[in-house]
Amino acid sequence: MEIVFLGTGGGRFNLISQIRRTGGFLIRGSLNIHADPGPGALVACHDFSIHPEKTGAVVVTHNHIDHLNDAALMCEAINCFPDRKRGILVASKSILAGDEYGERGISPYFTKKLSRTEIARQGKPIKIGGATLTPTPVRHEDMTGFGFVLDMDGARIGYTSDTEYFPSLAPHFLHCDILIANNLKSGADGVPGHLYSATTVKLLTACHPRLCVLSHMGQSLLKSGPGKEARKIQKASGVRTVAATDGMRVDVRTLRVKK
Ligand SMILES: [Zn+2]
Repeated sequence: MEIVFLGTGGGRFNLISQIRRTGGFLIRGSLNIHADPGPGALVACHDFSIHPEKTGAVVVTHNHIDHLNDAALMCEAINCFPDRKRGILVASKSILAGDEYGERGISPYFTKKLSRTEIARQGKPIKIGGATLTPTPVRHEDMTGFGFVLDMDGARIGYTSDTEYFPSLAPHFLHCDILIANNLKSGADGVPGHLYSATTVKLLTACHPRLCVLSHMGQSLLKSGPGKEARKIQKASGVRTVAATDGMRVDVRTLRVKK
């Protein structure tokens, strides 16, 4: 079982400049689950030797374009042999039922080809094959967004998605083997809605995963140096922390990182 990072950049400037890719990540186990396939996810699959048609489920945590853009493409990829419906999409209410403008993030043209769609709701774990995805709360612009804890093949993987820190967040990520933290910024800049290094330390200190992987890194963090930020976070939290790079793979059992 492994996690492949198809994009590790975050924030508007990085999204447009593509200094880091924005394709989300793929959890490859008994089921292949693609989380937050942002712009370039499909291209990244090919660049990193991933077969997109072997994806079993797509998870889109909120309706921001850096998480959502290639989701319809991935639904197409799952159904490139349209002999029967296949694949599962788990997404926020804003994406599947409509946002404040009444718009859906993914058209029914794509979702009707899937075998199942599920709106993620707090307190309602979702069975995906033999895996269980438990939505976790966020404080972010899309109030229907979510992070998740995935229990699959005897491992537990946490993903914060985009959220600022709040004290009741940490208990949701207890007992994780790996926690993927969308640590957008190196420091506070007065704009709420995202984790930055000091708040990621607070989160890790309270939930103690075996490994934390920083991703969704924005311009300030990339300038400051992702490796330096990871070392700083590791020293302050006592949790082993690495900064993801595009194409990086993590073996979920051994926690070995291959860049
Ligand atoms: Zn967002």
